[in-house]
Amino acid sequence: MWRANLDRIPTLVALTRRNILFGDNICSMCGDTEESTDHIFTACIIANGVWDAICTWCNIPKGFLFSFQDIIEMANRVDGSRVRKQVVYGVIVLTCWCIWKARNEKRFNNVEIKVPKIVTDVKSLGYLWYRNRFNGGKVDWKGWNLFCIDIV
Ligand SMILES: [Zn+2]
Repeated sequence: MWRANLDRIPTLVALTRRNILFGDNICSMCGDTEESTDHIFTACIIANGVWDAICTWCNIPKGFLFSFQDIIEMANRVDGSRVRKQVVYGVIVLTCWCIWKARNEKRFNNVEIKVPKIVTDVKSLGYLWYRNRFNGGKVDWKGWNLFCIDIV
């Protein structure tokens, strides 16, 4: 998150800027436009689909995501208990990581990108993180899938 927020991850635009990549710098996920940090995590149709699903699942307002900073601000707007805020923040970080991982799998291994697969990864990895972070947690898998975090 820290590196992405500083625009310090190796997107194709960043590699071109550093004279490491010459030629095509079109988004590895959608193929529509230049692959910048902001595009990968906000404007890309893949990222948009993932955020729609994640925000619906967590019941948080998505708002307008134009830049990576907007993702961090989305995390800061979350209401509810202290635990809920921590869990949503963790889910948002994990979502960014899963988007970046899917981008890399597409770019380097030509693995087809599917929004539902990324969302499933966020939910399943997120549950493992939640149980580890909150000493087993009080929400079971069914509750996690309904995001019943406020009842903790
Ligand atoms: Zn894209």
